[in-house]
Amino acid sequence: MAETIFVSSCLLGLPTRYDGTDNICPEVIAYLQQNNLIPIPVCPEQLAGLPTPRLKCWFRQGTGKDVLDGCGIICDEEAKDVTGAFAAAAEDSLKIAELTGCKKAILKQRSPSCGSARVHQNGQLVTGMGVTAAKLVAAGIEVLSEEDFAAK
Ligand code: SF4
Repeated sequence: MAETIFVSSCLLGLPTRYDGTDNICPEVIAYLQQNNLIPIPVCPEQLAGLPTPRLKCWFRQGTGKDVLDGCGIICDEEAKDVTGAFAAAAEDSLKIAELTGCKKAILKQRSPSCGSARVHQNGQLVTGMGVTAAKLVAAGIEVLSEEDFAAK
């Protein structure tokens, strides 16, 4: 039976980004097709009930792992604390990954939810994971990003 894989929906061309556009990645789509994988498209931020378009958000304090540990903060561009929505997004995303049997994920780099190596913190790109990426990794799911496919 074909394997399922959790994928940031914007990488598949769904217009789920904060500004209502997508991040379609032909290399990721080709990888899914070539390996006969069944993508489970998820936008954690939409799953948490955030609207699209929505205000841009970034880490005010810490990164995704810190949010899971209770000491990270995410704010939107109007300085409203939206940490709770991002934490709920991670919880719900993990439930979907588990329900659909995903052992692997491909997530959009630099997103406060989906970033797996770098995220935005107070106007800087810093090393760290988004909240959903950190949640999936903590549950033992292998997390890749579109950058792992772009040069192949
Ligand atoms: Fe894409 Fe993740 Fe941002 Fe949703 S939360 S638009 S899936 S990067």
